[in-house]
Amino acid sequence: MLRLYTHPACLLHDPGPGHAERPARLHAVLQALDHDRYAALDRIEAPRATREQLLRVHSAAHVEEVLLGAPPDDMLALDQDTVMGPGSTDAALRAAGAVVAAVDAVLDGTARRAFCAVRPPGHHATRDRAMGFCLFNNIAVAAAHALLAHGLKRIAIADFDVHHGNGTQAIFEHEPRVLFASSHQSPLYPDSGREDERGVGNIVNGTLSPGAGSHEFRELWDSVLLPRLHAFKPQLVLVSAGFDAHRNDPLADIRLGSEDYAWITERLAALADAHAGGRLVSTLEGGYDLAALAASVSAHVSALIA
Ligand SMILES: [Zn+2]
Repeated sequence: MLRLYTHPACLLHDPGPGHAERPARLHAVLQALDHDRYAALDRIEAPRATREQLLRVHSAAHVEEVLLGAPPDDMLALDQDTVMGPGSTDAALRAAGAVVAAVDAVLDGTARRAFCAVRPPGHHATRDRAMGFCLFNNIAVAAAHALLAHGLKRIAIADFDVHHGNGTQAIFEHEPRVLFASSHQSPLYPDSGREDERGVGNIVNGTLSPGAGSHEFRELWDSVLLPRLHAFKPQLVLVSAGFDAHRNDPLADIRLGSEDYAWITERLAALADAHAGGRLVSTLEGGYDLAALAASVSAHVSALIA
């Protein structure tokens, strides 16, 4: 059984006209999943993350800043491209809360796998600040919940967004119970994620040059990232599922197609099946061409259902 966590509040986070990380992204995802093929999805309304859950990975000052949010009828820019509007605080709480609830569901056996169709995304947010369209680091909040509320000892985070998950890496680079494995374009925002950034041996970065495509992506995962993930024997697999390495994406220069997202999803599901009793939680990160995003999420969710 695949659970789908989402919440209407995630549609009400609006960073302003012309912003790439726009509500239409989630509309496109939900429309793609509103199809007979996905009738068996167990659809759950995401709860809000609690302050306690957020404080496991974020500073009190950062949590309070996002909870306070934008002034009434105004916008608040937390960095050059990360902007809060009136609906942003609740969206951020639901996005982080979705991934936490999904972790609870797969660890208590209610579900085997889950996908969180939420925004804002999370993997650029660091302990102390919002960054790169991200307010709270949703996947990090989920990993910390699995560590601290459930007592897991080995959690894998696989991140195939085209951008490096700098926030996730920074939060866990001294935490050997979390293995972070990422493929990303280099050079590209946020200019981190070199192969020699290894944390305490728990960070595995794989870079792709602009113009790389399916072959290079699959080779990187097959030869470097997946072997490290299997050797780690994770008890839970978390996925930062960004779809902006698609060839039609306007923010990057990698040339994947939706079939590549089916491919990586099948392998991450097999990783979870081999070591984690199938337990996998995926959450939406980037993906900025609406048609490419819809097709890629469909491929991802179809592979998770299979
Ligand atoms: Zn991205």
